Amino acid sequence: MAEKLKAMRGTHDILPEEAALWRRVESAFVEVATRYGYDEIRVPVFEATELFERGTGFSTDVVQKEMYTFLDKKGRRLSLRPEATPSVVRAYLEHGLARKMPIAKFFYLGPMFRYDKPGAGRYRQFHQIGIELLGTASPVADAEVILLLWQFLKAIGLTKLGVRINTLGCRPCRIRYSGVLKDFLKDKLGALCSDCRERFARNPLRVLDCKNPACRAILAKAPEVREILCEECVRHFESVQACLAEAGIVYAVDPRLVRGLDYYTRTVFEVFHADVGAENAVGGGGRYDHLVEEMGGPATPAVGFSAGLERLVDAVKAEGSMRGENSGIEVYVASFGEKALRPAFRLAAELRARHRVWLQYDQRKIDRQLGTASKLGARYTVIIGDDEAARGVVRIKDMVSGEQVEMEMGAVAAWLKEKIGGQRVE
Ligand code: AMP
Repeated sequence: MAEKLKAMRGTHDILPEEAALWRRVESAFVEVATRYGYDEIRVPVFEATELFERGTGFSTDVVQKEMYTFLDKKGRRLSLRPEATPSVVRAYLEHGLARKMPIAKFFYLGPMFRYDKPGAGRYRQFHQIGIELLGTASPVADAEVILLLWQFLKAIGLTKLGVRINTLGCRPCRIRYSGVLKDFLKDKLGALCSDCRERFARNPLRVLDCKNPACRAILAKAPEVREILCEECVRHFESVQACLAEAGIVYAVDPRLVRGLDYYTRTVFEVFHADVGAENAVGGGGRYDHLVEEMGGPATPAVGFSAGLERLVDAVKAEGSMRGENSGIEVYVASFGEKALRPAFRLAAELRARHRVWLQYDQRKIDRQLGTASKLGARYTVIIGDDEAARGVVRIKDMVSGEQVEMEMGAVAAWLKEKIGGQRVE
């Protein structure tokens, strides 16, 4: 027997029952993002590898270890996107949007790819929703972005949430802090894990959020960023917090929060859900005031977040806060006899202008067809046999009361409209 093909490790199918829940979560996100004035942007799933090297950051784990990179038939180096921010910035610059819109607000949703070790809530193809707000350095924008994420999480019924925020400082502060950390760590390297020793060389800030207990113990005594922040960074962070308090968001300042991507400056944040696991944030983001410039654009401060749909759906399921229901069938059209096929086909097409209709394709016994209609949850079954077809009539069975009526075929659409209602879509 031929070997069965399976989905690749780290990928997963979203079957119809679950897809309905995904769609509801996505719709809630679109609804909330729209209320904050964001419009959708759709960017390609693959890009030149260089985009992520420059955008996401050459030294990040994402670029160094996790990208799906390949050569196409012309020998170009391409990568499946591990995140969407660099693509959104590229599109913003490529289409001259910086000139057209002084403040640009985009939301996106779609698959991302990282060659990560699959585990609970960790996939190689996963899906993100996210927003990018370009063109303002205001701390109000940082708080508003966090609030949007918060409001969306509330809209999908999540309650067991926690928000952590931190500041990495502006670029000079960040560089200064990196130096301070390096000084602190340099005589402790032997006690750090091998990942951290590597991070120490590439990006010392990343040592801060190592999960290894030995590293954590050392870092407990590390100097904190707030000790070296410039006055403006202090003010910015205070304003963000004041706005969050104004909005009633309960948050904790976590001086160890640094995030995995290189481009963040000043505010960073993550949102956790109690049932998803403390190490797995459901979403996170921050300010990235230099990325647009680094990608060849004008100096443009920006802030954004992304959240993982797999983890959001897990959280929704754990809290039972939303159910995905597929549309269900309203009308089942049953036919039996050769002569009934064409009128049944025509009638189903007419009824579909307004209703969800299941047309039975094969000529099974009427009892079996009624059984299928019940299983599908049909409210009415329209029955056409050779005899009815010859007389230009149908029988309609009310699947709840069991009553049957006979009527002219031409009267069915109006009768069902009266009973079911529904919007007409041509
Ligand atoms: P990041 O782009 O790394 O800031 O991640 C943002 C969000 O995407 C995380 O909070 C997760 O919800 C989700 N995410 C990141 N990596 C994965 C993954 N490998 N599998 C599933 N979700 C992920």
